Amino acid sequence: MESSPPPAVPPERRIYANRTLNLRSIRAIGYDMDYTLIHYRVEEWERGAYEAARAALAARGWPVDGLAFDPATVIRGLTLDLELGNLVKPTRFGYVIKASHGTEPLDYDRLRRAYHGTVVNLAEDRFVFLNTLFSLSEAHLFAQLVDLLDEGLLPKGMSYTDVYRAVRETIDEAHMEGALKDKITADPERYVVHDPDMAAALVDQHGAGKRLLLITNSGWDYTKRMMAYALDPHLPAGTTWRDLFEVVIVSSSKPGFFEGSAPWFEVVDEERGLLRPHPGAIAPGAVYFGGNAADLEESLGLSGDQILYVGDHLFADVHVSKTLLRWRTALIIRELESEILDQSEFVPTEHDLQAQMTRKEDLQRRLSLLRLERQHAMAAGEGHRALTRAVEDLRAEIVALDEEIAPLARAAGRLRNEAWGPLMRSGNDKSLFARQVERYADVYTSRASNFRFETPYAFLRAARGSLPHDPA
Ligand code: IMP
Ligand code: MG
Repeated sequence: MESSPPPAVPPERRIYANRTLNLRSIRAIGYDMDYTLIHYRVEEWERGAYEAARAALAARGWPVDGLAFDPATVIRGLTLDLELGNLVKPTRFGYVIKASHGTEPLDYDRLRRAYHGTVVNLAEDRFVFLNTLFSLSEAHLFAQLVDLLDEGLLPKGMSYTDVYRAVRETIDEAHMEGALKDKITADPERYVVHDPDMAAALVDQHGAGKRLLLITNSGWDYTKRMMAYALDPHLPAGTTWRDLFEVVIVSSSKPGFFEGSAPWFEVVDEERGLLRPHPGAIAPGAVYFGGNAADLEESLGLSGDQILYVGDHLFADVHVSKTLLRWRTALIIRELESEILDQSEFVPTEHDLQAQMTRKEDLQRRLSLLRLERQHAMAAGEGHRALTRAVEDLRAEIVALDEEIAPLARAAGRLRNEAWGPLMRSGNDKSLFARQVERYADVYTSRASNFRFETPYAFLRAARGSLPHDPA
């Protein structure tokens, strides 16, 4: 029987592999909840966290009344530089190609002065990487407070690092204390973006014999409400999300969950959230609090390469589980959807830009050869007036070409986000974010529900890596 080609998945919903992943050899799939199984309206959620932190700072007497959250001013994958009070966008090698001081963009000269001798190294305390969409409120508030500190409006003697500490504390409180989560569970429609494909993907994986695990840093009360709200309406009648997950782990303290030997507690009264220490093996169907990945592997009887973990936090979900346990990893990058769509629209301009760059390279090579020819003529004591004129003409041609290239390059640098450009690129290079995705995520995709279209049987083959010397 002649088979017709399989339905195509649109590029923005595909799963992209850095390292080949055969889903048939995966026995258990662990899921993060927030921004993985459940996607939020970033603007709403982050404004909630921002406003709570701002109120806490106002209570400390800080002059923050006039401040407001604007989600367009920051993107995930930027780095805070606590020493200089800057937000920076590094390349994969840590070179800074875009920066702002507080909320003010740095022009080329200021940027060069600040960073010509600096490579962004995330192992240093000076730098804070924006790992998740939950980082946006924190980054924007930090930038605004840097402005206030520079204007002399914050308590005397504070450094940018002190300012960051205050932001961290207040954002942390916003997440930990109940008020914000209560608002969300009281009006989930306002915060959650529904995705019926998510439930369908889980049903298919469960049906294919994958053991599903939920490992979230959220607390039990929030988790049970949100999972029921987001998944149950899309599940077959008579089933709930609990029927799909063999193990549920809340308040897991990732990345600590992957690193240590934290004790387990069982949620014994699911209504009231009462806990009891749980010293034994992890049993199917129960809800656990805390715990650690080493015990989990042992209870499941699985090794790291049989477990796929799907999460959105670059450090806590994929970097640590990959580095310490060799789990297979999938990173959820919702922004990839608009990034890919914007890039596709830009393809004709990108071709123009590349063509102009090829022309420029050619002119520059001709210029170098002419200059060398002139050098030889001078050394031999020969006349070189004609050569000098040719050099000047070529230089003028390159300047004119640069004027054509500049607006195209600027447009490429504004894709997806006016201020910071694409998530995965920094200038002509990969971004530091992209580099980390490449290192720690075996696969990446815009939504966890995209697994539905690949099926639980997919062989996700790594793209052939490109190298500068590859034939064009
Ligand atoms: P997960 O993504 O499912 O592991 O859950 C993330 C949980 O961590 C959510 O409940 C967030 O509210 C919480 N969270 C995110 N950022 C912070 C923070 O800065 N401090 C404390 N909790 C946070
Ligand atoms: Mg998450």
